[in-house]
Amino acid sequence: KLKKKEEEEAVRRSNALEKNELDTLRKVSRQEYLKKREQKKLEEIRDDIEDEQYLFDGVKLTEAEYRELRYKKEIYELVKKRSEDVEDTNEYRMPEAYDEEGGVNQEKRFSVALQRYRDGSAGDKMNPFAEQEAWEDHQIQKATLKYGSKNKKQISDDYQFVFEDQIEFIKATVEEGDKFDDELATESLEESNAKSALEKLQEDRKTLPIYPYRDELLKAINDHQVFSCKDNCLSHTIYNVLLDGASPATVLESVIIIVGETGSGKTTQIPQYLHEAGYTKHGKVGCTQPRRVAAMSVAARVSQEMGVKLGHEVGYSIRFEDCTSDKTVLKYMTDGMLLREFLGEPDLAGYSVVMVDEAHERTLSTDILFGLDIARFRPDLKLLISSATLDAEKFSDYFDSAPIFKIPGRRFPVEIHYTKAPEADYLDAAVVTVLQIHVTQPPGDILIFLTGQEEIETAEEIMRQRTRGLGTKIAELIICPIYANLPTELQAKIFEPTPEGARKVVLATNIAETSLTIDGIKYVIDPGFCKMKSYNPRTGMESLLVTPISKASAMQRAGRSGRTGPGKCFRLYTAYNYLHDLEDNTIPEIQRTNLANVVLTLKSLGIHDLINFDFMDPPPSEALLKALELLFALSALNKLGELTKVGRRMAEFPLDPMLSKMIVASDKYKCSDEIISIAAMLSVGNSIFYRPKDKQVHADNARMNFHTGNVGDHIALLKVYNSWKETNYSTQWCYENYIQVRSMKRARDVRDQLEGLLERVEIELSSSPNDLDAIKKSITSGFFPHSARLQKNGSYKTVKHSQTVHIHPSSGLSQVLPRWAVYHELVLTTKEYMRQASFTHLKHAFQILLPSTRASLG
Ligand code: ADP
Ligand code: MG
Repeated sequence: KLKKKEEEEAVRRSNALEKNELDTLRKVSRQEYLKKREQKKLEEIRDDIEDEQYLFDGVKLTEAEYRELRYKKEIYELVKKRSEDVEDTNEYRMPEAYDEEGGVNQEKRFSVALQRYRDGSAGDKMNPFAEQEAWEDHQIQKATLKYGSKNKKQISDDYQFVFEDQIEFIKATVEEGDKFDDELATESLEESNAKSALEKLQEDRKTLPIYPYRDELLKAINDHQVFSCKDNCLSHTIYNVLLDGASPATVLESVIIIVGETGSGKTTQIPQYLHEAGYTKHGKVGCTQPRRVAAMSVAARVSQEMGVKLGHEVGYSIRFEDCTSDKTVLKYMTDGMLLREFLGEPDLAGYSVVMVDEAHERTLSTDILFGLDIARFRPDLKLLISSATLDAEKFSDYFDSAPIFKIPGRRFPVEIHYTKAPEADYLDAAVVTVLQIHVTQPPGDILIFLTGQEEIETAEEIMRQRTRGLGTKIAELIICPIYANLPTELQAKIFEPTPEGARKVVLATNIAETSLTIDGIKYVIDPGFCKMKSYNPRTGMESLLVTPISKASAMQRAGRSGRTGPGKCFRLYTAYNYLHDLEDNTIPEIQRTNLANVVLTLKSLGIHDLINFDFMDPPPSEALLKALELLFALSALNKLGELTKVGRRMAEFPLDPMLSKMIVASDKYKCSDEIISIAAMLSVGNSIFYRPKDKQVHADNARMNFHTGNVGDHIALLKVYNSWKETNYSTQWCYENYIQVRSMKRARDVRDQLEGLLERVEIELSSSPNDLDAIKKSITSGFFPHSARLQKNGSYKTVKHSQTVHIHPSSGLSQVLPRWAVYHELVLTTKEYMRQASFTHLKHAFQILLPSTRASLG
């Protein structure tokens, strides 16, 4: 079978090479392209039938029958594989966040710490969920009219005594770095005082570890246009011969894998080198990043280095925000954006080079881009894959033994320290460690890895509290947070040089692990956790969980301290934890996520055979099945697993399938205007309302105003948006109502773009502001898989999996408890909560559910 697959592959590639086809492919529009693909597929099937004399019980089949059977066979294979998966638990690599019954079991692995947070035995100290729990407690108390006074959390005066609680560390290992080079490190500092900022930046560029390899790298990229023909010659010139149709050969795409330590200059320099070498004369250089912040920040840096305005020659493109222009030649973007561009233009005609950066992160979009083999229609497209970890062999194997270009790192030795015993409260321990370093260690900045915005803000607050009042007893501590939602101006702050005598503390999420390099870091504090998406295909539940990191991550984190001189890494866990409780590598996202979006994308690219799709690490078959099932239920796929018209429209929206379906359905109920506002508000997340500590009651009241009439959270969000719009998008109004202006502005941007997309899929912008039923029907046609029914005890049971869930205390419905509810998402904090619940009448639910989705509800 494999051999056959290989042969087919070879034929496919040489076919693609035919010059005519290449030329036409470049020209055809997407529609034509899809039509052509579909035709080709049919032809193939016909060939199949003829070749194999496809007989079923001795009967020769028609094409339609054959297609149906083929799809059934695919499903059958998936189901069969699923049972194998379940037996062979090694292969079924879901995170251990769930127990056998699909219940939550987040205290696995170095659980002492987490468990203590959960059951409160960490005492009154801060814990990462404290605020949320307090808010939930508060709300629940209010709702149940219990007024017990809790004496929790007196952030007491003890903190005055910085040195009272100390953590004992054990020095474990010194990780040997390469021989370091004092000259390079100090060289550029003094001589360049008089020069302009731009000249200085240019000089800085030359001190990066990648610089000595500039020419070699460019030469490798230029030369590596590898084709293997029958006698196995590898040569650049064959390309031309091939285009004349003279030689039967297989193209091995021009993929190069580039490996280099974080901070060596891959992201900022390689695109500039390519630009300098002229690659941007006939197309853009695109560079993907797994994170929005990284794309923005790196683009900003490169535009500075080139002395151009951001958005002109150098720009970035992230979901719902395009900062590029016709002039743009270097484009930084999220990998998700490149995937969407590929959807619209499969030959990526605007690009001469695509660099998939941070490949080691193995995000969902990066994995799919790899599997799609994005260079297949463009043998002249250069594909660079860069990774910060040394296990690049896996990438190389995957890309037909693509060559690996290694940029030797300049890494100083790093001392690793572990705690003696597990730390129950890592946030507290982290703060104590910062202060300990601050008063006992020589100059050098500190980097702490935390799991998210809430945690970072809490840590910042504790740190400020503890240093307040110490005045001049300690040197100045400059605290710089960095996370995705931080405004751009503040993000830039982390890169500013630290003034003499002061010390900078950067509080970062995983983003500082490899995506961003901050110079001057000498100490790293690693609590050993990150927030990770996980998905349980059995219950269809997706959640963000605070999870222990992998050994590979821990190594990366430690490495951040040894970039400009010898460093120290303080791990807030024990050496035993490290050795026994941490996985070697982080599980790729594709194996722990809901695949509905991926399947929809692949289907809209005309890829039907999901089993044989060339995944680098295949997802669990159960997750694939669930995705197919959901898309079928949403009527995005027909019973043959083919994209329907609805599905084709849905695929145009850069949103989750249920949200896209909600929008597509609003066409029928004549309320697309309202529905895109709701979708926009939902997609900015939970950062719309805020609750200042001293004004919680006011904030809660303001919030409840939008819930009058118990309309449900979706409609409350709509009311918020519309009220804001009525005040002509007033900032003052936001302040008065405890609403975050920034989130609202973002919602407005998103809404504008959704409006543009409506036109593209030919949905009229129609409004029925007073027909709440129409709005609820649209919501339900997208979110019926998330419906739940009220139980006698006030909890809810989900329809699909009979899981017990609760209405989130922040929901306007928490006091009403409707018989039926649909929810936007389940979140897991102290309980499993439904966030953004709307209630539907049974009648509505069934009007929409029947008959197409009866099956999926079993
Ligand atoms: P790599 O991609 O190999 O990890 P980068 O190209 O991101 O390396 O970083 C190279 C250098 O550029 C680092 O020394 C880093 O400090 C600097 N740098 C990157 N982004 C910024 C920024 N936004 N502001 C200031 N310096 C930056
Ligand atoms: Mg990088």
